[in-house]
Amino acid sequence: MYYLPDLFKMPERCSVCNLKYEMEIGFWWGAMYVAYAVSCALVLSFFLPLYLLFKFSVDMSLLIDMSLTTLLFPITFRLSRSLWIHMFAHQSKE
Ligand SMILES: [Zn+2]
Repeated sequence: MYYLPDLFKMPERCSVCNLKYEMEIGFWWGAMYVAYAVSCALVLSFFLPLYLLFKFSVDMSLLIDMSLTTLLFPITFRLSRSLWIHMFAHQSKE
């Protein structure tokens, strides 16, 4: 997951159910909105405890916050795509 050259690579189809991941051209653009929401939630959930609980300065809280959020980007990116595709793809219940 942290091998950066492969970060944006996606398999064309699901290996289990053969679902085509990119349902239409530009499908993954919508995942950016999910990534934005997930990132905002992460930024707040790091900043508030650092600043309020651990009493770091605003600058130090933001520095640690941005470092953690940047380090977690590969996970956020994949999670956002997963959340996005789950809004459109439905598993058949056979
Ligand atoms: Zn599948």
